[in-house]
Amino acid sequence: MKIALFGGTFDPVHEGHLAVARAAVKRFALDRVYFVPADLPPHKQGVEMADYCHRFAMLALATIAEDRFVPSLLEAGNASARKPNYSIHTVRRLKSALQESDKLYFLIGIDAFMDIAKWKHPVELLSECNFIVVSRPGYSLTNVIEALPEAVRPSDELLKSLSPWHASRMVPLPSKTIYLLDKVEEEISSTQVRQAARKSVKQLSRFVPRLVAEYIKKEHLYGSGMPSSESENEDEKRPKVLSFRRERPSD
Ligand code: ATP
Ligand code: MG
Repeated sequence: MKIALFGGTFDPVHEGHLAVARAAVKRFALDRVYFVPADLPPHKQGVEMADYCHRFAMLALATIAEDRFVPSLLEAGNASARKPNYSIHTVRRLKSALQESDKLYFLIGIDAFMDIAKWKHPVELLSECNFIVVSRPGYSLTNVIEALPEAVRPSDELLKSLSPWHASRMVPLPSKTIYLLDKVEEEISSTQVRQAARKSVKQLSRFVPRLVAEYIKKEHLYGSGMPSSESENEDEKRPKVLSFRRERPSD
């Protein structure tokens, strides 16, 4: 099977994420895309975000009608253990559950890939599986090479010899390959969705699947449907287990 691991904060999942996954399925004939929300994203520590359970629930709703899309709990449980989710560990954990014949791709947007050299063990990660780097408005895929850690960056001579690498849409690494997927032009981000939720719940349906919009509204996520402080207090009174919230460890 051809499998992609698509990680992120997914706070919340939006139509851009789904478009990325659909484009990758089409271009690489993927059998399955695992959407893996990070419980504790290393680059967003200290940043307020919706509870992992909510982010996972929204992913389950967003992917319900697509056979090949699977929400995954691979990175669950790290926040309570205060251990950030590092992709190198997630990839190795997933690989240990795959068959020898399975082919794994790491699906990622170019904006996130630009930081890859700062991730934990980037060279090892880039040798674990092939990557699919997807375009995103405001970022250029030609920056992929600059973003690579020096140890795996292909030399100018090698790139020149590859009848131009950008035409073949792939970058060779010592043991794996980075494929570029440049047809995705989705002008949308979770940041925008959170802002829209604060302003008007109606706007949400432009950015997220209907069920996700309804979930955001129902759970009053991102300040949606909470005009007065009174209703906030009401929400606080709900038993935590019923409001689908977990206690965060205090510092
Ligand atoms: P935020 O605004 O909170 O950062 P986001 O929209 O960037 O949210 P993430 O959960 O941070 O979403 O991203 C998860 C993955 O999806 C990353 O690899 C990111 O690059 C990719 N991605 C998200 N939105 C798009 C998009 N519109 N086009 C291409 N890739 C995207
Ligand atoms: Mg992001």
